[in-house]
Amino acid sequence: MKFQTITGTKDILPSESSLWQHIEQTARSVFKRFGYSEIRTPVFEDTNLFLRGIGETTDIVGKEMYTFKPSAESEESLTLRPEMTASVMRAYLQHSLGAQSPVVKVYYISELFRKEKPQKGRYRQFWQFGAECIGSANPEADAEVIAMMMMIYDELGIKNTTLKLNSLGDIETRKRYRTILQDYLRPHFDKLDAVSKERFEKNPLRILDSKNPDLKELIENAPRILECLDEVSKSHFETVKTYLDDFGVKYVIDHRLVRGLDYYSRTAFELVSSDLGAQDALGGGGRYDGLGEQLGAEKEIPAVGFASGIERLLIALESAGISEKIQPPKPDVMLVAQSPLARGWIMKTAQAWRKEGLTVETDLLARSLKAQMREANRLGATFAVIVGENELQTGKFQLKNLLTSEQKEIQQEDLLSEIKTRTA
Ligand code: AMP
Repeated sequence: MKFQTITGTKDILPSESSLWQHIEQTARSVFKRFGYSEIRTPVFEDTNLFLRGIGETTDIVGKEMYTFKPSAESEESLTLRPEMTASVMRAYLQHSLGAQSPVVKVYYISELFRKEKPQKGRYRQFWQFGAECIGSANPEADAEVIAMMMMIYDELGIKNTTLKLNSLGDIETRKRYRTILQDYLRPHFDKLDAVSKERFEKNPLRILDSKNPDLKELIENAPRILECLDEVSKSHFETVKTYLDDFGVKYVIDHRLVRGLDYYSRTAFELVSSDLGAQDALGGGGRYDGLGEQLGAEKEIPAVGFASGIERLLIALESAGISEKIQPPKPDVMLVAQSPLARGWIMKTAQAWRKEGLTVETDLLARSLKAQMREANRLGATFAVIVGENELQTGKFQLKNLLTSEQKEIQQEDLLSEIKTRTA
């Protein structure tokens, strides 16, 4: 029997991992510059965390969670995390992180699990990098989180994106808007598709999310939440926009961008790419001041964050021709053995040079000189040093630069420093 990865999951192969590392390093570097520290949480949590933390009317909780019992008799219900925000807020509350620091700024690079129908850009196990800024209700936090997300894409060279921005106001705004929207949609109820009909009572704001072309005009003409904003949210939104303008971060206002959950508030944003297919969202986020209380905190905990899908970013990097430029690291030198005695010397020398920071390849298959040189070229080594009895006796070595084909005689004691300076 041949085993295969499960549909909707993927291996990240050695040939791909440099690109993954490049993305992770770029993200880590930007997070660091904004003063964010990494948080790692368990892959599975109490199912109730996500029921409360994401909301029962969402697709994620409604149909996409991998939920299981730890044993047949157990009363406990566990779920593989489908997103990170609820887990991060759980950790924040559990460890009283707010008592240690008034503003807690954390980032993650994590794998997530959703029971989705796999397609391009949509998997059942996928990766996100993201960040949460917990403790500030001020628009500076929103602006910084958005700017930080955009800086990562910018440093990765991603173009052809549109940042969509909206404000959902406070809870009262949304209650008011919910009624206004329902009143607007009610006379057209028969025209709605089945999903939207279902959302009409449960979560009418999500009807605005619909991709159904038949509803496009109806949605386009719907009253806009921005017109219903309370005064504080209005000025919050204006300030966020002013900061983004100051930072040179471009955005478009999209009144359809809603997050139909009670604890989402004010800023909502999403980054879409024209280089992706139907699944065009690279990442998104927003403010979720109500989540802490939802998870049992005694008072409101203002927070804002974002999450970005790594697999979709890979598709965008590929279509922009950027991925091919990120090559796996190449060896600095291959030590080529001409005799068994040389092999011993090579093993010892390789070990010593690696301690000095060089990437050193040796032949582990006792191959011929020609085969070893072929291997050195295949690996893309900068240098090859052929080691035989003669070299070991005289202490004089030929240092071959495989990139330029030049060859130079070097004394044994100078070999390391010569290679180091030329590969630095
Ligand atoms: P969400 O947590 O649903 O707001 O998603 C944030 C980002 O994660 C999206 O913009 C996508 O880039 C990515 N994402 C969400 N679901 C999937 C999935 N099933 N497969 C791959 N990427 C996903």
